[in-house]
Amino acid sequence: MNSPHPVVRTLADKFRPEYADDLDAVVEVLQKGLSGTSTTVSDYERDLCGYFDSPNAIAVSSGAAAISVALAAAGVARGDEVVLTPTAPLCTVYPVMAAGAVPVFVDTRVDNFGADLVCLDRVLSSKTKAIVDIAMWGYPTPVDELYQFARDRSVPLILDLAHAHGTKIRGRHLSAYCDLACFSTHERKVLATGEGGFVLSNTLNLAERCRSYSRFGNLNGRDFGLNFKLGALPAALGRSRLAHLDAQLLQRKRNAGRLLAQVAHHNVSEATIVSGGEPNYYSLNLRLTFSNNRRFIEYLEERGIPSDVARYGCRCLYEFPAVARFARHCPNGAALLGGMTTIPVHPGLTDADLDYVAEVISCYRD
Ligand SMILES: *Cc1c(COP(=O)(O)O)cnc(C)c1O
Repeated sequence: MNSPHPVVRTLADKFRPEYADDLDAVVEVLQKGLSGTSTTVSDYERDLCGYFDSPNAIAVSSGAAAISVALAAAGVARGDEVVLTPTAPLCTVYPVMAAGAVPVFVDTRVDNFGADLVCLDRVLSSKTKAIVDIAMWGYPTPVDELYQFARDRSVPLILDLAHAHGTKIRGRHLSAYCDLACFSTHERKVLATGEGGFVLSNTLNLAERCRSYSRFGNLNGRDFGLNFKLGALPAALGRSRLAHLDAQLLQRKRNAGRLLAQVAHHNVSEATIVSGGEPNYYSLNLRLTFSNNRRFIEYLEERGIPSDVARYGCRCLYEFPAVARFARHCPNGAALLGGMTTIPVHPGLTDADLDYVAEVISCYRD
């Protein structure tokens, strides 16, 4: 087990799914309009509504654009406060800062990435214009409770579901439990169009504000906006790939199951799944209880098994220099990030890859 297994050397690169019908989808759209106002984009939005069982979808140019558009629709302006968990990636907090709003960090729960409601009650103020909750690596957060909490206080709830296409709680997509749900379709995400994103909303009024803001305020000269539209080429890919999403998610779940069934190590177990929750297995999250968890992650990396924790240097957001001025001690979030790693289980992996990963994990000696 000292040198990387030849099959798995490319494990990090196997995230890119291949679809036989991609070329047909792209060729077809080349014969139609290419802009964000083409029928390809509205067809894609209708398909998204169908898949996610949501009344409104607005396709946008990236996940970051989706968050910016959702914040604008929620009425977040300069000087307002936006509450979010510090375990999110920089991609979530930068749009908040770009809006001129103040990110206010709320700690996570002890055993999942959802906002802790007691802590949330303490950090909410009259300046709070939105709460953002993030289902990291596709593991559900208890959004049903959180949405009730936010509604009781009349604060809009935005979910960053960039990792969480297909993640469910009590049989429903997480997007059912919020005012605005933001998704990315970046190449690394579960639904991939290269670059891209979309917003779902259960409220027509908020959806119209998203649409307006992402289209220069419909150029009416009254309503401010920018251009965050998704082009027709990625929309066409999104449409054809959406049809494969359920099969892909099934394969991810199967891969995670195969791996977990073989992992035998008393310092390694799957992250806690909230009651009634179904992860989409964007990654398999493992809870680690080694004396030095980062050393275990390095050991995996050296054997060709990549971790997002290493790749992105995951830590609480306020530990990054660009965000340090918003620091607010969040011990649960820090402990969660320090006590976990991600394991790839994407559909491109073979059974041999998965068995190799399980064997490498099981052989580790602290
Ligand atoms: C990827 C990601 C984003 C940003 O999405 P882009 O499409 O890259 O702009 C935002 N939030 C989370 C949680 C992400 O993983």
